[in-house]
Amino acid sequence: MESPSWWLLFFLTCVGAVFAQSQPAADLIIRNARVWTVDPLLVEAEAVAILGDRIVAVGSSVEVDAWRGKATRVVDGEGKRLLPGFNDAHVHFTDGGAQLDNVELNDAASPQEFARRIAQRAAKTAKDEWLLGGDWDETKWNPPHLPTKELIDPLTPRTPVAVNIHDGHMILANSLALRLAGITAQTPDPAGGVIVRDAQGNPTGALKDAAADLVYKVIPAPTHEQRRHSIERALEHAASLGVTSVQHMNPDYADIAIYNELLEEGKLTTRIYAAPLIPQVDDQVKIGIRHGFGGPYLRIGALKSFADGSLGSATAYFFEPFSNQPDNRGLLSDEMHPISMMRDRMMKGDAAGLQLCTHAIGDAAISTILDIYTEIEKAHGPADRRWRIEHAQHMAAKDFDRFAQLRVMASVQPYHAIDDGRWAEGRIGHDRASRTYAFRTFLDHGVRLALGTDWNVAPLNPMLTLYAAVTRATLDGKNPGGWFPDQKLTVKEAIEAYTMGSAYAEFQEKEKGSITAGKLADMVLLSDDVLTIDPVKIRDVRVLKTWVGGKLTYDAEGARQ
Ligand SMILES: [Zn+2]
Repeated sequence: MESPSWWLLFFLTCVGAVFAQSQPAADLIIRNARVWTVDPLLVEAEAVAILGDRIVAVGSSVEVDAWRGKATRVVDGEGKRLLPGFNDAHVHFTDGGAQLDNVELNDAASPQEFARRIAQRAAKTAKDEWLLGGDWDETKWNPPHLPTKELIDPLTPRTPVAVNIHDGHMILANSLALRLAGITAQTPDPAGGVIVRDAQGNPTGALKDAAADLVYKVIPAPTHEQRRHSIERALEHAASLGVTSVQHMNPDYADIAIYNELLEEGKLTTRIYAAPLIPQVDDQVKIGIRHGFGGPYLRIGALKSFADGSLGSATAYFFEPFSNQPDNRGLLSDEMHPISMMRDRMMKGDAAGLQLCTHAIGDAAISTILDIYTEIEKAHGPADRRWRIEHAQHMAAKDFDRFAQLRVMASVQPYHAIDDGRWAEGRIGHDRASRTYAFRTFLDHGVRLALGTDWNVAPLNPMLTLYAAVTRATLDGKNPGGWFPDQKLTVKEAIEAYTMGSAYAEFQEKEKGSITAGKLADMVLLSDDVLTIDPVKIRDVRVLKTWVGGKLTYDAEGARQ
């Protein structure tokens, strides 16, 4: 009679054999790389194995070789730095893609150059077609002053022009555009907007925040083909920069439809989380969608709101007036007129399980939103909500603790700090500037950061964001040691916030954000080791290869998988 232990041994041997036979080979192995995983359980590694769209092993090159089979593609990392793909927590993806084809005004260093470029573009623009984009920055002119329509009217008699300031919170319209929008000296300023006027009360062409909408609403919507073209340009650009996920703030529904179309065709090469505007809250509530609804390439379930304007346009909403404009403390957005309308919409969205992502820049705007978040928590009870404040630029000292208590995330864009840092102190004074882009103070208070760019407002390139977060060296070269250097992040902190932080901000930290077995294989191989080089050189680091779900979406050598 056989002993039970013999049967057990036989059984285990069979299981072992079945297991050994069923372990499949990896589709891809990246070996001989310097892997920074952003996973505290295994911080550094040499190699990664990928099967399908997932990582199946991380470790030494020898360990990971156990996954090698006949058909496994092997990439030699040549000792280069491999990171999880970057997840940009705040972009305007379609606008960014469109901008790649638009007139470029950001580096126009004088009003004459600004006008010259507009004239050049207008000459190539079909009659009645709008001339848009630009991202002008009058602070680069000497002396700096807002452009007026007179500068461009003689050059653009047949082309309606609505070119935007770099932060998007102001446009310059020419006379034809003002006429099409019906804006005259008699037009009152809309709630949440300013029509800039000359001494006689005539519009100068500069339109701030909600006043720009008067023009935007008469611009014909892009056709399906134009929109798709912009998104395809954006996807290509993201892949070339190692950006494997983006969180699209205030998309049009038509953008989401095109994402879906590209997904079906297998052409969506960047993962998208889309947050439509809160005035449309009823749509998502009606269908019963909750935060993070969708699949690995496309999710919705968030609501983007605007509490105020921007610092650059002097429309960020502060407790005290701007230091250089004693009568102006900024503007609440039109969505906040009245504030109870915003509260009601947020209550409705939260009750339905939607995530709130709220643009708030001035200290009073941030405080007001934290008040509303507090009221919601009181009304609906505690939950894992991951509320966000987008930008969270100028903090009141008292609000860091409230941020932490409510577990609100700061969705921040470090590049703005080195851009605005050139002139911010002149507008808000030293004390408020000391709590501006206060990334270190957020971390010290236990507030979680998600990093992004606000592309098309700032460049999508993550190397510029890392450089900005780590050096805080303003673009004018005047603060080489850092503007408010106490607020610098380390490279590791910045990478963590740009990968795991952003993944957490979209409820996807179990799926992505680190190079961990089981997670989606989204990775980027860099030309230089951002963790060891002089931080000043980070801005020059290039992407060698980008993988999304194990598929090569960019290769600097031009080869596509
Ligand atoms: Zn934005």
